[in-house]
Amino acid sequence: MNGAITFSIIKPNAVRTGKAGPILAMINEAGFEVIAMKMVRMTLEQAESFYEVHKGKSFFDSLVEFMSSGPVFVMILRHENAVEEFRKLIGATDPAKAEPGTIRKLFAISVQMNAVHGSDSDENAQRESDFFFTTSERY
Ligand code: UDP
Ligand code: MG
Repeated sequence: MNGAITFSIIKPNAVRTGKAGPILAMINEAGFEVIAMKMVRMTLEQAESFYEVHKGKSFFDSLVEFMSSGPVFVMILRHENAVEEFRKLIGATDPAKAEPGTIRKLFAISVQMNAVHGSDSDENAQRESDFFFTTSERY
């Protein structure tokens, strides 16, 4: 049984360039229901903690600096088979490899600044949702 929720971030590059609205419209049109959302600016320490699974990788320091460089939209999304369906909607990590019509193909400007985050498993969807949202912030 696949999970009903996934967690997403509209990353600083996309927020900064006014793409949050168009990205949210695509998420909505694809049938995802927003059950929690807020705008936050992560501290460096929060970004390091959120991405701790990547600690030690070559791109880690640069990634956490980028992710804390400006406000982001964090959200929990509901959909059948949410994790897999959302990863299809956003496309590959590297926008050069993303399918046409995906959010990353349309809005990414590099592998790092790839516009959106999407959880990679039901377990991480729970962990990442709990990282940002209390129970009373979910609808
Ligand atoms: N990333 C990067 N360089 C890389 C791989 C990843 O800057 O070579 C960044 C990119 O922003 C990516 C994030 O690190 O979205 C997390 O990487 P992951 O492999 O988990 O990709 P995702 O699950 O976001 O597709
Ligand atoms: Mg990932």
